[in-house]
Amino acid sequence: MFDIDADPLGWEEVVEKTIRNRLQLNSIYGQDWYETKFKLVRTQPDRFTEWKIENGELFYYQPDYEKAIIDDEHPWKKVVKPDDVLTILRENHDTPQAGHLGKDKTYDRVRQSYYWPGISQDVKTYVQDCEICTKVKYNQNPLKGPLMTRPLQQPWAQLSIDTVVSQTRTKKGNSNVVVVQELYTKYIELFPIRHRTGKLIAKVLDTVFDR
Ligand SMILES: [Zn+2]
Repeated sequence: MFDIDADPLGWEEVVEKTIRNRLQLNSIYGQDWYETKFKLVRTQPDRFTEWKIENGELFYYQPDYEKAIIDDEHPWKKVVKPDDVLTILRENHDTPQAGHLGKDKTYDRVRQSYYWPGISQDVKTYVQDCEICTKVKYNQNPLKGPLMTRPLQQPWAQLSIDTVVSQTRTKKGNSNVVVVQELYTKYIELFPIRHRTGKLIAKVLDTVFDR
């Protein structure tokens, strides 16, 4: 009855083209760097003790010194090939599991498992230019309403509901997106819809609250 694309992942294809066009990857990092490093580590492992090759993949030893005092379970970070950088960034920022967190939290998340030269700058650029984050931030002005001056004590006490119109459409023809943000954790979830009607937006909220 309702025209709802319940799979929030459908939104990814909408923004993919924009992301590919706008992301300026760090200039020092190219295919050459990865291949050169890989060859050096393979042929001279004694010279590169902080690097290793396992199952044909390059790893870099980079313990998190703050956490290492207690326990850093994964000090070996997978070195990401240039062609895969965008996928890693998207997985750790755009997916419902990642929830469009800010640049610091996204960076913490990415560097837990991965490394590439210029990783910090690339995460910063990617999050700064994220279409969804930009629109959500632009539409929210915490100073405007007196309600916002009361600090939030727990998750799901307050939500922000917004709609964003995209330049492109999903395969199902949806070009409108309902953006639901949980204001305590800043977690964001996206629901593509065809038209911005009260009925459809209400249906999205039902989906959120029924879980
Ligand atoms: Zn974002």
